[in-house]
Amino acid sequence: MRMETTRSLLLKRAGKISKILNMWSKGLFSIVVLIFLFTSSAAEAGKKVVATFLPVWIFTKNVAGDRAEVSLLVPPGMDIHEFSLKPADLKFLDEADLIVLNGAGLETHILKRIDTTKVIDTSKGIRLIKSGYAVDPHVWLDPLQAMIQVKNIRDALSALDPENKSYYEANAESYIRRLKSLDMEIMQGIQRLKSRYLITYHEAFGYFARRYGLRYYSLTGLQAENPLPGKMRVVYDIVREKGIKAVFSERQFPERSLERLRRDLGVNVCRLDTIETGSPEVDYYEKVMRENLNTIVRCMEAE
Ligand SMILES: [Zn+2]
Repeated sequence: MRMETTRSLLLKRAGKISKILNMWSKGLFSIVVLIFLFTSSAAEAGKKVVATFLPVWIFTKNVAGDRAEVSLLVPPGMDIHEFSLKPADLKFLDEADLIVLNGAGLETHILKRIDTTKVIDTSKGIRLIKSGYAVDPHVWLDPLQAMIQVKNIRDALSALDPENKSYYEANAESYIRRLKSLDMEIMQGIQRLKSRYLITYHEAFGYFARRYGLRYYSLTGLQAENPLPGKMRVVYDIVREKGIKAVFSERQFPERSLERLRRDLGVNVCRLDTIETGSPEVDYYEKVMRENLNTIVRCMEAE
């Protein structure tokens, strides 16, 4: 469900207008129509920016506003860990003026096949977390790292389209202000928790846990394959030792293995959202992060 491109919109409009012109072959009306065609296509002709997946699309859209055409590469319902490029995607990327990546290893498979001169890596400047031999790509789940991503996007858009630099800067500033208040809200919510342990299925909340001072454990590795027996054992021990009340699955991944924990240890199983899939709306990131906070507080504090 990619957004309609300017090109296809223009094609449609040109089709409609030629029909109208056939009906009204003379007179002022056709001149008015031509002026309309000219001005509205000028307004739509921003730079073409493609964001690889939902969180970076949201950040980019908040900075670009209506001055650039921001599209999404991976459809909003598809998991980027599983995504592979098709010929149509390569053509689409080829036509872009700027390609915005999350970075931190998330798009390695995509990078190998595209023109890297127009790529921006939004994880530049982030202190990355290593997990085994891999780098953890889930930087966006910490609003402070998201702010760094937004700043990288702001700089790339300003370099690409200097005429609108002050517009992008103002948008970035107001979005960063919103991310700061989101961060404060999460900080205050987490500080009230008695338990300092966060346990999830998919290894996605490492940056979140680092930011808010939580000890973090997951059942799978970074690619959300099946639970690893060693990790399972550690989680069983921690839950028993520390009297942990809740473990978390993700909307994006199955939770069957957590059922066993519920049965064996009597913990709550609640659901978080990694925002890897969802709806392409400008305030979706903040909305889901607040829902995640509420879920954590509600499930970990429940008796
Ligand atoms: Zn993930």
